[in-house]
This record gives sequence, structure tokens and C-alpha cells, in this order.
Amino acid sequence: MPSISEVLDSMDYGPAPESADHALKWLERGPFGHFINGAFTAPDALFTPDNPATGAPLAQLSQGSADDIDAAVAAARAAFGDWSARPGHERARYLYAMARHIQKRERLFAVLEVLDNGKPIREARDIDIPLAVRHFYHHAGWAELVAEEFPNHRPHGVCGQIIPWNFPLLMLAWKIAPALAAGNTVVLKPAEYTPLTALLFAEICTEIGLPPGVVNIVAGDGTTGAALVAHEGVDKIAFTGSTAVGREIRRATAGTGKALTLELGGKSPFIVFADADLDAAVEGVVDAIWFNQGEVCCAGSRILVAEAVAPRFEALLRARMGRLRAGDPLDKGTDIGAIVHPRQLERITGLVDQAQAQGATVHAGTATQGCFCPPMLLTDVAPANIAVTEEIFGPVAVMMTFRTPPEALELANNTRYGLAASVWTENIGTAMDVAANLRAGVVWINATNLFDANAPFGGMRESGFGREGGRAGMLAYLAAPGPQGRAPLADSPAPVPLPAGGGACGGIDRTTKLFIGGAFKRADAGQSWSVHGAGGDVIGQAPWGSRKDIRNAVEAAAKVTGWGRATGHERAQVLYFLAENMDRRRAEMTEALVQAGSPDPAAEVDCSIRRAFLHAAWADKLDGRVHATRSAHVTLAMNVPHGVMGVICPDAPALLGFVSLVLPAIAMGNRVVVVPSQTQPLPALDFGQLLVSSDVPGGVVNIVSGPRAALTRVLAAHDGVDALCCVAPPEVCAMAEAEAAGNLKPVWTESAQRDWFGPAGQEAVFRAFAVQVKTVWTPYGA
Ligand code: NDP
Repeated sequence: MPSISEVLDSMDYGPAPESADHALKWLERGPFGHFINGAFTAPDALFTPDNPATGAPLAQLSQGSADDIDAAVAAARAAFGDWSARPGHERARYLYAMARHIQKRERLFAVLEVLDNGKPIREARDIDIPLAVRHFYHHAGWAELVAEEFPNHRPHGVCGQIIPWNFPLLMLAWKIAPALAAGNTVVLKPAEYTPLTALLFAEICTEIGLPPGVVNIVAGDGTTGAALVAHEGVDKIAFTGSTAVGREIRRATAGTGKALTLELGGKSPFIVFADADLDAAVEGVVDAIWFNQGEVCCAGSRILVAEAVAPRFEALLRARMGRLRAGDPLDKGTDIGAIVHPRQLERITGLVDQAQAQGATVHAGTATQGCFCPPMLLTDVAPANIAVTEEIFGPVAVMMTFRTPPEALELANNTRYGLAASVWTENIGTAMDVAANLRAGVVWINATNLFDANAPFGGMRESGFGREGGRAGMLAYLAAPGPQGRAPLADSPAPVPLPAGGGACGGIDRTTKLFIGGAFKRADAGQSWSVHGAGGDVIGQAPWGSRKDIRNAVEAAAKVTGWGRATGHERAQVLYFLAENMDRRRAEMTEALVQAGSPDPAAEVDCSIRRAFLHAAWADKLDGRVHATRSAHVTLAMNVPHGVMGVICPDAPALLGFVSLVLPAIAMGNRVVVVPSQTQPLPALDFGQLLVSSDVPGGVVNIVSGPRAALTRVLAAHDGVDALCCVAPPEVCAMAEAEAAGNLKPVWTESAQRDWFGPAGQEAVFRAFAVQVKTVWTPYGA
């Protein structure tokens, strides 16, 4: 028998297994059908998820077919009218009931989750299930408040929701709770590997008397998910999963009018500065990458450490890693459970092998035999090593070093993802500065993997768009007020080569140029086309921009990073100056609109000037929020600009449409590349003069006229464009959404048919699209 001091030394302790009996008994209710219209269907086309820790089959479930999806969507549609019309208070009571019933069965849910997913019981019990409960309580509150807090908004209708296998019940809660609170009905598809807790949740829906059809659950694999995405009766798709499937879904929904939010993969940096509390940071890494077997979209998988402390940090980390226990997930002493499926284990080991072949040194802890993976730390990795660039989705971290804060930032942002980041330093200035400059939707300071129903969560860049949680998450399940439907607009004009010596009309040379980087530039192809006035006469020549001009414009926009970092007050001053200059040039602008055939040139100019003042006023007022989450944390939800935005303007009103879209975008700190009205581009091109004389820094606004569809395609596909606003005919909008799948930029398609002169031309949605929420968690306390 070991002595007490030996036990303290080895820190060995006996097994503390949680019993699985209750959950296994519950599973005997199978085989399971789908939960459609308030009842389980007859089991059919069965598949069998296994317990990844033992390989034992758990239950038989039905593989959802297109017909099952059809039935579920029909049930959700039929339920929608009544559900959305109920007072928020009634919906709230159902959400409270869901929370309470999950709470009553916390242990059953936790054990079932462990059996199905392989995660340690400690984590399922202390994190997954309580957070899911918290989500239902929080959104019961939103159901109560939605009418008051989001006036004029309406639910989308039927939401198709597709969730992954890493946090099965929690992801269900993240999807279903806000959707129902907002008044939507849902069809949810759980992951093929982990459908069981969704079935237990379906039972709760019956128990609490939820009206049939409000929640429908169809199990199955990727084909079931694809059928849900393709279904015409679905109004919104909410997806969490891999970037590859997110991209497919973006393409499949393009042009359908379905609302879309995507929460995708990540390769999140974990930055340790030299002054950090290294012991705390080591515990941070344990939570960042070894929590949930590293099967976490926001896992801190790239550790960046200040060179000065790197050897010490690595030694501490490897010692800690050596003490982690990877084994039986039902044992309360287990730190790392089973990998969800042998296929995922194969993927992890395959990536580690490739990383090693590319020069990485692999340090590994221990794990039991079977579908288990030891915790790993990879050092000696070059920035292009596959373990640095690819999401591994396993307990594998890479470690690199940096010398200065700017170098840390450069390394941290050197990824196509942008989901989360963790910053460790005792210097508040460094922490906040780095947080502000990280391209990530969530930043944790001296902490990691903190989640709360009231804290918006979601990504930037290839980590997707849209937020879940809090006010921003509610907005993702509500349609903003605005006109519906798009009317077709005129086709592209045919190019007319510019006659040698420049274009002339009526003796006056009216050859405009593109406006790029603060200067007037000839179109790269040297072509232009004749613009006709209301009477059919030629009023000028407009440059025929091409792919090359868009590329130059994006490059110019990318350089003016200072505009986004300027204060709102500084941007407001520039915009007020612009508005004043517009006022001074009122007569000139009116004359240009007379020529362009505006139905009421004076009114259009007048409204454009007022709108310029309005957006100047907003430049320093689109405040973020401080969310109430955990005690001793300030959780900031900041509105930050996208970066470079593409803007496709309506044909009419030529000036007011341009001003209404461009000014809110730049007021919020974006730089823009604008395709002006295709039929009347001259008023927008002339605007370049005003921008120059108003001290708008060169490159903040770039104007490229030409064939709308072709230019939109280039902007939508361009990796340097971070978001796109497209007011264009339906086929152009559809193409823009499909092309945007490349870097997964958010696209806002809008109808040209709104009343641009009235309040509809300056609604909050114009400003809302110009920003995205960045959530920064800052702990406090002495
Ligand atoms: P997927 O993205 O394939 O799965 C997520 C969900 O989408 C599942 O419900 C899946 O169904 C479903 N699905 C799959 N294909 C389609 C489709 N064409 N249309 C609609 N729905 C579809 O992730 P995987 O489970 O295959 O994991 C692969 C990799 O993705 C992981 O190694 C990891 O890197 C990453 N991943 C990232 C997650 C994140 O949260 N960011 C979560 C999970 C995985 P089914 O499970 O039945 O195939």
C-alpha cells in the first residue's frame, strides 16, 4: 500500500464512476422515430450511434428522408401562425418550463450526453447542461420582452437548424431557445453521431404541452441536413459546423431569400505576453484546448508565447499536460474523454502525422487504448505547418513564439478564421489594445472559453457570420422592418469604346473618371460608355470599370486602416464637413440630377444633404453594450466595422441611393468600394470631388462605374472584401450571395423599391449592417 506522501506525490486517486444505468434504461424506449408535429413517428430506416468510449451500440434511430423533412416543415409551418401570434408571455412560459424540466433531469441529460459524445461527465454535468438550462431561462425572458424591445420586427417563420456533435444539447439550446422566443417554429437536425439528448428534449416538449409543430426534430446524416437547407418552406437556416459545409449551405441558399447565420470553425490564438501570470495561463491552455477533447470550435489551438518566457511556459505546460487523465468519460476524475468517433480520431492523428512530417516536434500525454487521443503540444512549427493553418478539432495545440506585441498581433491575425482569441497579460493597456486589433468575434482577457446566454457569440471571416446569445442573437431570429421582394431593374448597357481624344457632348467634355484611392483614374481598359439623359440625349461618358479597377480599388481601401481606428468624433467631423460642402454645391448637384433625369432633383439633393448630416450624427453614437453575464466580468459587446465593404447602388435615385448606402458604412469606420447606379453613374462619380474637398482620406470611398453584374461578381468573390451590400436585381443578388461563399463574407441584399426619400431610406438596418459585434470578456477583482 502506498504511503500518504507517495499518494500526494503521484496524485493518484481511485475511480469515481458515474452510473449509466438510468440512461441505458431510458434508451430501451428505442428504436426511435422523428419528433414531428408533437409526436414520434414510426421508426424507419434505422441507424445506430455508438458509445465512442466502448464502441457499444446505444440505440436505433431513424435516418431522416426528404419526406420526413417535408412533413416536419409542414408541421412547423402550420404551427407558425398560432405560435407567433401568441403574447410573448405565453411563449415565455413554455421556455421556462423547458428550462425547469431539463434541470429536473440534469443527471440523465449529462450521462446520456457522455454516452453519446464521449465527453467527461464532469464537463457535461458542470458546463453543458447548466449552460443549456441558462439559455432557456434567458430566452424565456426575451420572449416576454420581444415586442417591447424589438418593435416592428417579426419572426422569420420556419427555421431550419443544423447542429454539430461537440455540444449536442447546448447547441440545441442555442438554436431553439432564441428561435422560439422570437416567435419562430423550428425543424432541428442533430448530428448523426450525437442525436440522443435531442430525443430526450423532444419528450420534454410533449411533457410541457408545447403546441404540436412548434419544435420538430429529424435525425439523420448530412443528406438530411442538405434536404432541410434546400426545402422551400424554410425561411431561415441556422448552422453550426465545419467551414466546408457552411460554404455549401451559403451556395445552396443564395438567391432563395432565406435568412442565414453560420457559426463555423476556427483556429483561435491564445496569446501569452511576458508579463502574464504564467501559472494561470497554463490553466487557461488546459481549458482552451484540452476541454471537451479539443472538439471546440473556439478552442485556443494556436498558443503564441513571448519569446522571453517561452522556455518556462513550455516546461510548465508540458508538466501539466503529463498529469491530465484521458480515459473513461464516466469517471469523475477524467479530464479528457473519448473522441466522438473513430473517423474523427483518424482525422486528428492524420493531421498530427502531417504536421510532424512538416517538421513539428510532438509532445504527448497519455491516454487509454481505444477511441481516445492523448493531449498533445506541437512545437517547432513554421507558420505554414498544417497544424497551424488547419482546424484539428482534437486535443492538439501548436506553440509558436513572438517578440513584440505587433508581431503577436500579426501572427494571431494570420489565419482565414476569426472566431475567438484569448489574451494573457497583467497590463490592461496591452490587453485592450490587442483585443481591439484582433480579428475575432470573441476575445477573452486572462480567461478562455467563457460562454453565457447573454453574451453574443459568433465569428468573423471564414468563421461565419451572425451572433448567438444576447440581444444580437435575438436579432438573428427577427426580420427587420423593410420592403419585401425585389423588382427587376434595367440590364447592363453595352460597352461603347471611348472615341479617340476623349468623349464630348454638346461641345462640353463630360468624360468622368473612376475615383480610386482619393484620385480620379482612367478605367484600366480605357473604355467608357455614353450616359443618356431623360430626353435620350448623351449627357456624358462614364468609365467602364473592370476586374482590374475593382482590384485596385480594394487595394486602396485596404491601405486606409486608420479610418476604422479613428474615433467616431473624428469621423463625424469629416462627415459634417462633407455635408456642409454638399450644401455649398447644391446648385451644381441639382443641375447634374436635372441632366440625369431625376424626377425631383431639388428634393433629391436636399434629402441627400440631410442624410449626410444624419450619418455624421450617428458616427459616434452606435454604442455597444455591457452585458450582464457572470459576476466579476465586464462583458463588452462592441460594434466594430467590417473593414472593406463592397456597395452596389440602386439605379435610382442615383445620388440619394449612393449617399444612403455609402455614408452609414463609412460613418461606422468601414472603407468602401462602390458600384454606382448603372444607368446614371455621373452624380456619384462627381461626388469624388466633394470627398476630396472635404478631407475624406483617399481610399475611404472608391467609386468604380461599369457593368453592375460583372463588377458585383468580382467584389463578391474578392477575399479582400469583408462584407457586401447589394441593392440590385434578384439575379445579381443571388449571384453575389453564391460568390461570397469564397471567404464567407456577409451579404446584405436589399430592395431598390424602398422609399429612399422617407424614413425607410435611413433605417437602423443601414447602420446595423455596417458593423459586427465583437464580444470582449474582461475579468475584474483584486
Ligand atoms: P459538419 O460540418 O459536417 O457537421 C455539422 C452538421 O451539419 C451535422 O449535423 C451534419 O450532419 C450536418 N451536415 C453535414 N453535411 C451537410 C450538408 N451538406 N448540408 C447540411 N447539413 C450538413 O462537421 P463534421 O461533423 O463532419 O466534422 C468535420 C469537421 O468539422 C471536424 O473535424 C471539425 O474540424 C469541424 N467541425 C466544426 C464544428 C464547429 O462548431 N465549428 C463542429 C463540428 C465539426 P451529420 O453529423 O449527420 O453528418
